[in-house]
Amino acid sequence: MLGWSKWVIFYIICLSLSLQQLRKASSASPPIQTDQVHEDFLSGRYLKQEQGGSHEIHCSRERSRAAWKIIEEYLVPFVEKEQYQLSRRCRLHPDNDLFRDQEHHKVHLDINEWQCGFCKKSFYEEKHLDKHFDNRHGNLLNSHSRCLADVCGALHCDHVMNSVSQKSKCNPAAASRNKHLCESLADNCFPVNEGPSASRLHEFFLHQFCDAHSCTGRQKPFSRGRRKKTSIFYIFISFLTLILLLLFYVYIYLYQRGMKRGTLELKRISQSGRKKKPF
Ligand SMILES: [Zn+2]
Repeated sequence: MLGWSKWVIFYIICLSLSLQQLRKASSASPPIQTDQVHEDFLSGRYLKQEQGGSHEIHCSRERSRAAWKIIEEYLVPFVEKEQYQLSRRCRLHPDNDLFRDQEHHKVHLDINEWQCGFCKKSFYEEKHLDKHFDNRHGNLLNSHSRCLADVCGALHCDHVMNSVSQKSKCNPAAASRNKHLCESLADNCFPVNEGPSASRLHEFFLHQFCDAHSCTGRQKPFSRGRRKKTSIFYIFISFLTLILLLLFYVYIYLYQRGMKRGTLELKRISQSGRKKKPF
């Protein structure tokens, strides 16, 4: 019995020693290049340990997010319909968003629960998770990417974020600058010489985003529509409403029938009572 426990202790000591060796080896490994980070998220973690501090970024996360939402809702469905592949030259390509990797690692568990996909830490609000990304995972930014918020002017981010009041005066110079940026996006993302679907999308892009960059106010942005939402949730809710309505009407019908029968019986009782009275 004693011999057996000795072997267990010896085994545990060996295991802890080898673990220590392994830890030393990993901390002594050379720093990993930033390119690898995007390919392997574990290597990104190492990089975080090596570098520690956060970088200073001059790109608005909120505006980048707004721009991404607009692309997803008002452009991607039409690009998918045409089965067109955006090239990396196009500034609207997902790889050209500085925050794309971080945003992909946001887990929205509940209304008040956001989780970091890198280290599984939880937060009550999205803005706290954003702060956490800035402080802890700044090294996981798509360093080769550009700031998506830079194309916000062309994509009408203010319109979506409601950051510009409807009554504020239109600035013709800004409008023409945004139109120019918008048209250059159309040219870069959907070059007309790349076939019929590219030229169709080029035309679409001008109508969807660029035409509204004028002070006449005649054209509204996103005139060609958006992604249609027919999720299972909506179907479920409408089905539930239908069932509840049906139950409500059945209840009303039964209630009224019961009332009628009640009054009939009352009448019968009172009539029979009246008949009995003379006796
Ligand atoms: Zn984290």
